[in-house]
Amino acid sequence: MSYVFNPEGLVRDCLKELTPYHSVAYPGVIKLDANENPFDFPPEITRQMFAALGPQSFTRYPDAMAEELLRELALRRGVPADHIMAGNGSDELILNLMLTFGAGNRVIIATPTFSMYGIHARVSGAEVVEINREDDFDLPVEKIIQAGDGAGLVVICSPNNPTGNSATAEQLTSILGNCRCPVVVDQAYVEFGGADFLPLLEKHPNLVILRTFSKAYGLAGLRVGYLLARPEVLRLLHKVKQPFNLNTFSQLAALAVLRNSGIFARHVEQIVAAREQLFAGMQQIPGVRVYPSDANYLLFSTNYSASDIFHGLLGKKVLVRNFGDPLLSGYLRVTVGRPRENEIFLQSLREVITTLGENIDE
Ligand SMILES: *Cc1c(COP(=O)(O)O)cnc(C)c1O
Repeated sequence: MSYVFNPEGLVRDCLKELTPYHSVAYPGVIKLDANENPFDFPPEITRQMFAALGPQSFTRYPDAMAEELLRELALRRGVPADHIMAGNGSDELILNLMLTFGAGNRVIIATPTFSMYGIHARVSGAEVVEINREDDFDLPVEKIIQAGDGAGLVVICSPNNPTGNSATAEQLTSILGNCRCPVVVDQAYVEFGGADFLPLLEKHPNLVILRTFSKAYGLAGLRVGYLLARPEVLRLLHKVKQPFNLNTFSQLAALAVLRNSGIFARHVEQIVAAREQLFAGMQQIPGVRVYPSDANYLLFSTNYSASDIFHGLLGKKVLVRNFGDPLLSGYLRVTVGRPRENEIFLQSLREVITTLGENIDE
């Protein structure tokens, strides 16, 4: 007797519907698709990272609690170290939050937003409830509060990826005060603008803040994120956390970055100034609608399909972000790059739009 092995038949329906996250590599392009820090990583910090390595740094398991990193973060963020947890990117922390509070519960997500919330919620066996933002992408506070009643987790991104707008302290206070579940505020881009909600942690035990080294701090390749919350929330998350989630090299890299944070503050200043120039430049291109942003990217739409613009730009070796989300059909997101990259993007966008216009006229 023989059995047909059918792994697909064994998994939950929600997994069958998920598509794996692929990011396609396009060699030799100007990469404005992933909101990374566009500058070269400072070589003096690389030297410090390697100088911190000992003969057994790679042979031994990492510090499971990343204690030195947490101490340094605590000092710099002005919270006790028992309010912080480090993760293998904030992506891992999002998964841990979903496994802890989402599994078997409802997870409320204000959309359009970062896709990983929905993906990790579904992987965790949570029921995803999407609450659409207003036409200007503002938070529908009342609707979130209503949906949050009896939910396991509410997730808000501020500044929001990809729309660029931020929540206000007033909106968040209202959501925190009216929801009994943890309210996660992903502040991956807070270095670039918008309110920092850390001060609200004192009054609101259900606030969970996510931060990352992947954007302003230039460490996307080393996967370091962290979470700020009350110890009673962290105690639960620690039950779910992989013991050695953050490798030794990434721990010391994040420490080196923190100890040189002035360099990254200057990067941020330059990026914010470039963002405003890019915004003004895009506004001048006929038919382009661009949204104000507190982050290091701009959301925009044109009179043509997002796919035509995306491929037109790619033909000119400029990579931006196109979305699969139906709520974002027609929209693209461009990351603020170095000044020369932004100029090339603007010029390319002008040319692509002109060409598309000529083809229609024919
Ligand atoms: C890029 C990004 C992150 C960062 O994730 P890491 O796993 O820390 O690299 C988190 N949240 C949002 C909204 C992002 O855009």
